[in-house]
Amino acid sequence: VDAVTEPWWTATRERRLLLQRCPACATVQHPPRVVCTGCGQGAPAWVEAAGAGVVDAATVVHRPAHPELTPPYVVARVRLAEGPVVLTNVVEGPPDGSAPAPGTPVGLRWRALSDGRHLPVFAVNEETTWTSN
Ligand SMILES: [Zn+2]
Repeated sequence: VDAVTEPWWTATRERRLLLQRCPACATVQHPPRVVCTGCGQGAPAWVEAAGAGVVDAATVVHRPAHPELTPPYVVARVRLAEGPVVLTNVVEGPPDGSAPAPGTPVGLRWRALSDGRHLPVFAVNEETTWTSN
């Protein structure tokens, strides 16, 4: 956590997922940066993500990166409706434990951390019907 990401982490205490939107060129970006990746101007403004996205890529992890994570779990790149891609976990994925396919619609959920902050994770939309083949 640093001066750039501190507002982002603070918002997770209220389960709000913030993105940055450039007032000059309207580029929406994540993770937080000092300058806009679109035009290079400083001081992008904070906006709140709606929480909808689609899976860009996903994989099942069987060996956890941290001891507190229980494998297997799904690590995914999720493209938000606002445009940015976030590296996250997909919970409540396909019932067979496989990784959701690219293009699968997902919605924002939160995983509580011990210090009151939260990590944004995503769940496959309830209306998704799985095809068995
Ligand atoms: Zn810009």
